[in-house]
Amino acid sequence: MNRGVVVLVVLCLLTGVVLGGVAAGGCRPQLAGGPGEPGGDSPGTDPETTEPGDPGGPGTTEPPTEDTLPCPLCGEKVAEAAVLHRPLAVVIDNLAAARPQSGLSDACLVYELLVEGGITRFVVFFLHNESAAIGPVRSLRPYFLDLTMPLGAVVAHSGGSPGAFKDLEDLKPTAMHIDEMSYSSAFWRSNTRRVPHNLYTGTSLLREASRSLGYEGRRLSTTTPLAFNFAPEPDKVALPAGQSVTHLTLHYSASGGGYSVTYDYDSDTGEWMRYVGGAAQADPATGRQLRAATVIVQYVTSRVITGDPEGRLEFSMTGSGDATVFCQGRSFRAKWSKPARTSVLSYTDLAGNPLTLPPGPVWVLVASPGTWIETQ
Ligand SMILES: [Zn+2]
Repeated sequence: MNRGVVVLVVLCLLTGVVLGGVAAGGCRPQLAGGPGEPGGDSPGTDPETTEPGDPGGPGTTEPPTEDTLPCPLCGEKVAEAAVLHRPLAVVIDNLAAARPQSGLSDACLVYELLVEGGITRFVVFFLHNESAAIGPVRSLRPYFLDLTMPLGAVVAHSGGSPGAFKDLEDLKPTAMHIDEMSYSSAFWRSNTRRVPHNLYTGTSLLREASRSLGYEGRRLSTTTPLAFNFAPEPDKVALPAGQSVTHLTLHYSASGGGYSVTYDYDSDTGEWMRYVGGAAQADPATGRQLRAATVIVQYVTSRVITGDPEGRLEFSMTGSGDATVFCQGRSFRAKWSKPARTSVLSYTDLAGNPLTLPPGPVWVLVASPGTWIETQ
């Protein structure tokens, strides 16, 4: 399906037009049901919620003639019904005791960010791949919401920092979430690992919870903004020349160690294979080594929150800054911008032209300016 048709479909969905067979697979907005989150959103007062009796808009249109759409998060072509619902995001632990993590090989888009103590955590987005085991799930930070809100994602987590809970309250109904501490039925604990590195969830459990909490009932759930511009095929990508790079290692800690991330480029597949702490990082749920079509190092200023007893960080996620993109065996410098907390991150080349990436999973390593990176 070409981009024009995709835009038409998205516009139709935005205006509530029912697209024939698409609607039967989940396009038609559903009324919120279930008990709702204690103290949480009220589906009946949510302006994005379809009103009872809404016929679906002022008109109808012909159903799409093809049965696939590009995923707005990774660009891969998938069944329409698979992308016409709200993305799920999960906060995943990256402490050594949490490895190997499950579910990451099913993700469309992954952000890796520092939290307090010099360790990293992932915000992992799922849209069309089903994953029965995702975790270990950890707690929320405010700057994770800067990533999930613009994409209309429901973020699953286990508790959060004081700042995260304040944001969840202040940013209703835009900040959608499923907290294990108040909605435990969407999670389980493994008896083979120690608390707190043993909490898991899955896409079907989260979808059920999302419906129950009224999130899937909003019209926005049928339209996910494009996280990136994607080319329809890998060979249709026209990237800045940059320089040839087949290996990168980013040291989240100045001393290297267990949070150093390496990607090696596989020219046969066009994918960047991931290693952490010097070891290949695989998903035990699938046995597959984690990989990306594109790796972006996004430089974002962070600082320790004044007076925070745990030394938690705050990130300047809005504004603009530098990035380095690793794609198709090359690297080049780029810019990122995000005018507001609810704005989708956008990436351009140094001349300001939007980047177009090949289809496939995108991993964004959020790092402080000056972070030590080795390439060859
Ligand atoms: Zn995808």
